Amino acid sequence: MKNKKLIEAKKLIKSIDNDIQIIVERHKYTRGLTCEPTEKRIYLGFRATKIENQTFIDLVNELEPNFFQKYKVSLWLLSVLHEIGHIQTHDEELEEDYNFCVDFLNELKLNNEITEKEQNEYYVRLDLEQMATQWAIDYVKKAF
Ligand SMILES: [Zn+2]
Repeated sequence: MKNKKLIEAKKLIKSIDNDIQIIVERHKYTRGLTCEPTEKRIYLGFRATKIENQTFIDLVNELEPNFFQKYKVSLWLLSVLHEIGHIQTHDEELEEDYNFCVDFLNELKLNNEITEKEQNEYYVRLDLEQMATQWAIDYVKKAF
C-alpha cells in the first residue's frame, strides 16, 4: 500500500517536471512531505497528523467547494501536488516573511499560546502555503 503510494507520487512528479529530484525519506513513517523549492527537490514521507490533514482538507474545500466530491484525487496525491506547487510558485521575495511566520507560529505553539489546530490553520494560510495549494487545485481541475 505505502509502496503503491510512493510509485504513484513519483509518476505524478515526473510527469509534471522531470527535473524534480525525488527523495524517499529514510524515516518515511515519522516524516511528512516536504520540499526545497530552490533545489527542486521533494522529500516523500507518510507522516501527517489528523489535525494537519483536516486543516488542509478544510482549506481546499474553502478555496474550491466540494473539491473531493468533484475530482477523483486522493488526499495523498493532492498533498504531493501541493509540494510540486511550492516549486512552481516559489517566490524568493516572500521567503523571509514566510520563515519568520513559521518560526513565530512554532514559538507560540511551544509556549502553549495557540493550539496545534490554530497553528495549522494559520500555517496553511501563509502566502507561500496557499499559493502551493491553489496551484495543486488548479492542476487537478485541468488534469484529473
Ligand atoms: Zn506546503
